[in-house]
Amino acid sequence: MKLNGSFTDFELNESLLRALAEKKYQTPTPIQAQTIPRVMSGRDVIGIAQTGTGKTAAFALPILHRLAADPRPPTRRNCRVLVLSPTRELSGQILDNFRTYGRHLRISAALAIGGVAIGRQVRVLLSGVDVLVATPGRVLDLLRSNALRLGEVDCLVLDEADRMLDMGFIHDIRKIVAKLPADRQTLMFSATMPRAIADLAAQMLREPVKVAVAPVASTAERVRQRIIRVDRPAKPSVLIDVLRQEAIDRALIFTRTKHGADKVARVLNRAGIAAEAIHGNKSQSQRERVLATFRKGEVKTLVATDIAARGIDVDGISHVVNFDVPNLPETYVHRIGRTARAGADGVAISLCDGDEVAFVRDIEKLIRLSIPVSDRRTHRSRVDERPAKVANGRAAPKRSAKHPRRRDGVSRKQRRHHDSPENARLASVAFLNRHAPSRRDVAAIAPRSAGQSEGS
Ligand code: AMP
Repeated sequence: MKLNGSFTDFELNESLLRALAEKKYQTPTPIQAQTIPRVMSGRDVIGIAQTGTGKTAAFALPILHRLAADPRPPTRRNCRVLVLSPTRELSGQILDNFRTYGRHLRISAALAIGGVAIGRQVRVLLSGVDVLVATPGRVLDLLRSNALRLGEVDCLVLDEADRMLDMGFIHDIRKIVAKLPADRQTLMFSATMPRAIADLAAQMLREPVKVAVAPVASTAERVRQRIIRVDRPAKPSVLIDVLRQEAIDRALIFTRTKHGADKVARVLNRAGIAAEAIHGNKSQSQRERVLATFRKGEVKTLVATDIAARGIDVDGISHVVNFDVPNLPETYVHRIGRTARAGADGVAISLCDGDEVAFVRDIEKLIRLSIPVSDRRTHRSRVDERPAKVANGRAAPKRSAKHPRRRDGVSRKQRRHHDSPENARLASVAFLNRHAPSRRDVAAIAPRSAGQSEGS
């Protein structure tokens, strides 16, 4: 990752600089270099950046700086900064970032997310907080029960705005924004800039500065990628070999289904490789416990589904292993982006069976790279050696008539369980990923030369 200047150039509060030094951040990332001075000067900002670019610090640092410059005791049931994010995990991580960077400041921060009891959140809000990080649904619940008021918010952050839109939060966001003072600072971050986001920004932001950094596909260039061709039944044993042979600090293994994640974790544990699974059927406290052990390095192998992994922000993931190759190429890019964060090196290994060859072709088309392949199949002349059929110019995977897997990755059996919120979200992510921009689209949003443009 290209890095820019030094944090001291921004004249950030000394306590923030101390926390950054402790975190061993030396230079701002491009989104930070572009965003921090603008937010410090009070401008609205729309940032086109995705997770992994350092965007959380890009908004958290200047917000903390401004709060520290104007210390006030919080008003009961109010917050001064409201950060909205689409998922509980992401919200938790944003809060952790605020706490890490603000550890030498007297600033209070709290979390308001669904899926956990509301009582504690109500109690925390009673005396008011400086920063509230929340998912939109829970904010509305708190407003309805009069536990939260928004009349004192002077800064609103909408993180992963495109995801919030695709997950159907737009009405919730509008309801929340209607309760905020008009005279506020608004920061919006989004990985993509579809028309709907531009419209939302035009309605909610005032003369925003637009900043943009490298698109999703460039992640692929930083990660050393490999494909291992395998027979499907041999995937667990090949995975075990891989985990034993590679120099792994932390490995994140992706499976398509929740059941698959549990199964892989069991197989690994039986083979003496300590592993935990994380997915939507686990309770919030289980997820938090598992993430904490992974973060501390007590368990080096985490098996996850895409939804559960979204927003997992753990430094030092050396390896991403795709136990199942994702059927949507953008999902692959999001997955491998979990390693090689903030300029570090990373390895991504995909175990590809005969049914997944076409998925790999789609991935290579998106990232515009051909991924080196090694072969661990026992019968190489098998039927899956045949080139996959090409339909309408796109490679199509082979399907067994008994267990058809559809292009959206959801079999008929899985589809029957589609009513749970986790699965509803899964569907929206699939929808979102299909709308992720091609590299050309993003290049059009992000001016190449300066990497930024002023005005709305
Ligand atoms: P984010 O895009 O906010 O999810 O951040 C991605 C990762 O980069 C996180 O693990 C941060 O801790 C890390 N990070 C953010 N800014 C910097 C920086 N300036 N130098 C090194 N690491 C950073």
